[in-house]
Amino acid sequence: MSCSPTDRSVAAILDDAVAGRRISAGDAHRLLLDGDLIDLGLAADEVRSRLNDPEVATYNIDRNINYTNVCVYKCRFCAFYREPGDDEGYLLPFEEIGKKVEETLALNGTGILMQGGVHPDLPITYYEDLLRYLKSTYPEIHLHAFSPPEIKFIAKLERMSFYDVIARLKDAGLQSIPGGGAEILVDSVRKDVLAYGKTSSDEWLDIMRQAHKNGLRTSATMMYGMGEELEARVEHMQRVRDLQDETGGFTAFISWTFQHDHTEMEDVPETFAHEYLTTLAVSRLFMDNVRHLQTSWVTQGKKIGQLGLKFGADDMGSIMIEENVVSAAGTAYKMSQDEMEHLILSAGFEPRQRTNLYERLVTREDTAELAAKYRGSVTAGNRDLVSSLLPVVG
Ligand code: SF4
Repeated sequence: MSCSPTDRSVAAILDDAVAGRRISAGDAHRLLLDGDLIDLGLAADEVRSRLNDPEVATYNIDRNINYTNVCVYKCRFCAFYREPGDDEGYLLPFEEIGKKVEETLALNGTGILMQGGVHPDLPITYYEDLLRYLKSTYPEIHLHAFSPPEIKFIAKLERMSFYDVIARLKDAGLQSIPGGGAEILVDSVRKDVLAYGKTSSDEWLDIMRQAHKNGLRTSATMMYGMGEELEARVEHMQRVRDLQDETGGFTAFISWTFQHDHTEMEDVPETFAHEYLTTLAVSRLFMDNVRHLQTSWVTQGKKIGQLGLKFGADDMGSIMIEENVVSAAGTAYKMSQDEMEHLILSAGFEPRQRTNLYERLVTREDTAELAAKYRGSVTAGNRDLVSSLLPVVG
């Protein structure tokens, strides 16, 4: 796939994107190379306003639950995993995961994002039992879980097709699949950072295709800034856009920059705000068939995250009641619902909570009853996340 920059002018490319005419991968490469940040932001903001309510910016309340940190892979960019047999390896008991769900509900949450390392000893029945336990105990919580590397490993272990693994998990309660493990969907880059074994680019995309065929929506992600060429980022976006043309199953495109502390790649230079906002804006201009784009306050900090709402993003992502993977690489942020709403308001948008699949907006009244029921589950470390705006119920 050639994604060499076209020789078109930046102005002509921006005119096309703003008018709703699809731009090519080569055009996107040209914008990444030569686009002026403010011009890109203004154009991306116009596209964002065409695809989404220009007055509103959304966020969600969910929790990243990493049920295990044991992993058979050793991605060079990862500071989270522990090898099988390591003293620091863990596998959370179902009840402990249940407690985390209760705390999520107590904080007005609507879903969990559950993914692990890729544990070598867990058969498909482990995942089915976990999903059934959660769905039967907490029917209200949305289960967004098990990214393509986990699906691939289960398929290999059980000698099943990707489609059949996903069908079994769906039957047990899985409601959508997170786009984790995509990093950069270019095999040469994946080989460099030791992410090829967990899924090749084609495998990652095919697992998402099979999820969409199963009727499950998924997100698409991109983690960049690992020393790859700009062309690789463009190729990644092209492949996601192509699959979206085919299936329409991606809800959102979520990109963030590699965080290097405590990884084997600490020498890779950090990606700063200018490059982040440029990439965000270009992805909005290029990914014309993916409706929602998140801004990454978790890796960029709250202020740049907020600014992302003016560079093409329509969503601030989650308040992050718990996050273990990025924070293992030295970046730790979380925020309360009140602070999230304040950030969105002060950027000039009306803040609205949404569900995991962006299919509807959530009011405080929607979540109040469950929040009150589980209020006692809020742990000391998360008391500051309890919303002062929560209606008192019961
Ligand atoms: S990124 Fe995921 S698959 Fe790779 S080592 Fe870390 S936990 Fe394992």
